[in-house]
Amino acid sequence: MNLFDPHLFRRQFPLIENHDKSLIEKSGLTSSLIYFDNAATTQKPQQVIDSQQHYYQHLNANVHRASHQLSSKATFAFEKARSLVQGFIRAKSIKEIIWTKGATESINIVAQSLARNTLKPGDEIVLCASEHHANIVPWQIVAEQTGAVIKVLPLTNNGYIDVAEMDNIITDRTKFVTCAHISNVLGRINPIKKIIAKAKSVGAISLIDGAQAVAHLSIDVQSLDCDFYVFSAHKMYGPTGIGVLYGKKVLLECMLPYQGGGEMIKTVSFTQATTFNELPFKFEAGTPNIAGVIAFAECISFLTPFLADETNAYNLFEQKLVNHCYEALAKIEQVKFIVDGTPDVGVIAFTLTGHHNQDIAMSLDIYGIAIRSGHHCAMPLMDHLNIDGCLRVSLAAYNTIAEIDYFITSLKTILLDGSLDKTNEEVSHLSDKKVVTDSTKNEMDEIIALFSNTKGWDSRHREIMLLGKTLPRLDKALRDDNSLISGCESLAWLKSDYSEQGLYTFVADSDAKIIRGLLVIVLAAFNNKTAQQINQFNINDYFSRLGLMQHLSPSRGNGLLAIVDKIKLLAQNSDKNN
Ligand code: PLP
Repeated sequence: MNLFDPHLFRRQFPLIENHDKSLIEKSGLTSSLIYFDNAATTQKPQQVIDSQQHYYQHLNANVHRASHQLSSKATFAFEKARSLVQGFIRAKSIKEIIWTKGATESINIVAQSLARNTLKPGDEIVLCASEHHANIVPWQIVAEQTGAVIKVLPLTNNGYIDVAEMDNIITDRTKFVTCAHISNVLGRINPIKKIIAKAKSVGAISLIDGAQAVAHLSIDVQSLDCDFYVFSAHKMYGPTGIGVLYGKKVLLECMLPYQGGGEMIKTVSFTQATTFNELPFKFEAGTPNIAGVIAFAECISFLTPFLADETNAYNLFEQKLVNHCYEALAKIEQVKFIVDGTPDVGVIAFTLTGHHNQDIAMSLDIYGIAIRSGHHCAMPLMDHLNIDGCLRVSLAAYNTIAEIDYFITSLKTILLDGSLDKTNEEVSHLSDKKVVTDSTKNEMDEIIALFSNTKGWDSRHREIMLLGKTLPRLDKALRDDNSLISGCESLAWLKSDYSEQGLYTFVADSDAKIIRGLLVIVLAAFNNKTAQQINQFNINDYFSRLGLMQHLSPSRGNGLLAIVDKIKLLAQNSDKNN
């Protein structure tokens, strides 16, 4: 029976629905939302939201610890969720399901509780070139701790793990093999069965990062025969802050606890060795995310029928969205996909010749379209592909063909109307607004006055882009490692100078036009100030006054926080040296 109806499915998601009312008919939409950032996190269906609230309203008690009825009810719901997860991934035993904060914590548990205690110098850990940092850094840490060595499986031109290279890389020295079931940038379903079998053939332990797979594929850990499988609820329509470590019982049993505390012990004494609880509790120190677990159960009940549906309607609809989006993007001359071919799931990564990714993502934001730009927590993949970053559209089954069409039209408009490429003539109109980088005392006031005449993100974004044009480019020689500030999505460079009067001046540049505009705004606040003034300056207040806070709070995402931090650090350091 076909259980999946795209319209009914979409209707379950209030955040999307409530934004949707007059979406396509209305031109110049600024308040509606087209959410294409599902690989980062998915929206939540009403029943998941309700379930979390229901727990706090009717069931709230700590689990496993009390004999009163409320605690029993909460414990029952909590453990029922565990058995649902067991069924969801077809694990052999409920003891093999460990609650964690998410995929990241699950990987860290295996790295620290197993790999750290078993790896010897020279042993090898094999991972893949397209891994998310969550599946790289924990292994780098444990390699450093044990003297083990990391080896990397390369990719084919289509972005799959290259199994032809497996025999050269997975050898008798390999003790752990780990890779993503689906890359969060490439959207390819990796040949994990072959990789797991190869790991097994050399006696290595396998860990599959299923963070991007669980919303799209039906998982059977017994058939895969992997040793560990990890995932997060929030990428499969569930709550944030809860995830799963699946591990084979025999391995989990011989692992030491990851954290100590309540619930993970059997006995504690000052005179005898503390003994640990049985599985799965041995790995669940402290009060868990009970509401999250219970809402996660609701999410599994929501998703399972679609994944299990023999008509495959859910996956076919997702694939229809992917194909439609991919084909429409392929027709845009400037689009360059970062690997060849249509992705297997709705994760499409590309760059646009002649444009910075962050500029495009921010311009799309004006149209109410949320896509992602940057390295996507996969810096080694960016290096492997020889790019600084890329744009990523990631789709979910609540997205629509109409949304994709609107996105494509908006993208074409942005590329055509040249708002990202204002000529210097146009910029010279700015001279009456006179915002220049050799700051005068009133430069900040001028910027505040300029923004007080703007209404809405659209016009503020335009002003920022125009301001960016007034920022002189920094000499290439000055754009070096010393002056580099890496944001998540773009690069920026900052140089400082210090006058005899104790005043600082800064010059800066960025590869993204939007960041150049923001640099003009930021430098206006800090130039010709003393160290004390710089350190006391509240950038958030300033951004609020400009009406930018809700769009561009100085954050890690847009790199502004890193720039402001660097300015303050430079001022502090020179202050100390003077
Ligand atoms: N692995 C992959 C492939 C991911 O895409 C992500 C998150 O984007 C993670 C791991 C980390 O997941 P979390 O942040 O939920 O722990």
